[in-house]
Amino acid sequence: NKTLHITSCQQGRPDRNRSLLAKQSLGQNFLYDDNYVQKICSQVDFDVENGGKRVIEVGPGLGALTRVLHERYPNMTTIEIDTRAVDHLHSKFPQLRVIHQDVLRTDWKALAESLGGPLAIVGNLPYNITTPILFSLIKNCSHIDHAILTMQLEVALRITAKPRSKDFGVLSVFSQLHSRPSLLFHLPPSVFRPIPEVTSALVRLDFQPKKALELFKHVSMEELTQVVRTAFQQRRKRMSNSMKSLTDRLQKELPEDMKGRRAEELKPEDFVQLTEYLFGHR
Ligand code: SAM
Repeated sequence: NKTLHITSCQQGRPDRNRSLLAKQSLGQNFLYDDNYVQKICSQVDFDVENGGKRVIEVGPGLGALTRVLHERYPNMTTIEIDTRAVDHLHSKFPQLRVIHQDVLRTDWKALAESLGGPLAIVGNLPYNITTPILFSLIKNCSHIDHAILTMQLEVALRITAKPRSKDFGVLSVFSQLHSRPSLLFHLPPSVFRPIPEVTSALVRLDFQPKKALELFKHVSMEELTQVVRTAFQQRRKRMSNSMKSLTDRLQKELPEDMKGRRAEELKPEDFVQLTEYLFGHR
């Protein structure tokens, strides 16, 4: 049985009146250590105009971060899938706006337009859907100003990895083309309940919609995705080999200076140029 009985954290002490069973299927590892709640919230420096109307918390759960954030941003919005957590939030923070839905179904463009501009996202992400959440934010980067997110350290290292390092891959390329990511600090397993098996990290992504717009003038996200995924399927092989299936299909040769290189050596921008070349947009 992977469900554990846990209690929520309120002002550093377990709140015995508010307990529920943590669902592993929803990535529920609740923040339990008030020092870390304060440490995360102290990194959140969103513009407070309109009572923080454009502040969105993903997965508020029992409200460990929400308690601090809601005081600062009374008009913030939260998105939570678990009915039990939604009921709990309604009773604990009657004024809080809670959208009861799967965050992966969020229409970020519509939400940003309804709230009057680009969003500021904060959240201790459910680890099982961290990557799809990141890609949905990246895809919608013109509607998001920045995001401050807790995730598995392993994913944080991939987001911020530089070429020629072992963590450099698809997620690094897409994160770095669309944002300036920075790893702020590590969070040990002991600050969550249930205690996860892995270390976590807080990451900040400052989205760069202008840069992304410029990069995507000549290529589509789908084309770039094909190139990057194909290249990293065999990251240590020379590009002449690893890209063969795609170049054959497109009936194109790789540029000479690309043939002997490896995916893990290329800079994120190199993949955009290669996509322009292969799909014949330039
Ligand atoms: N913010 C709380 C904290 O720090 O203690 C909870 C964080 S917990 C790691 C992840 C939260 O995301 C849980 O409340 C979980 O129910 C919620 N969640 C999981 N999958 C979700 C989804 N697809 N859409 C929205 N919320 C989701």
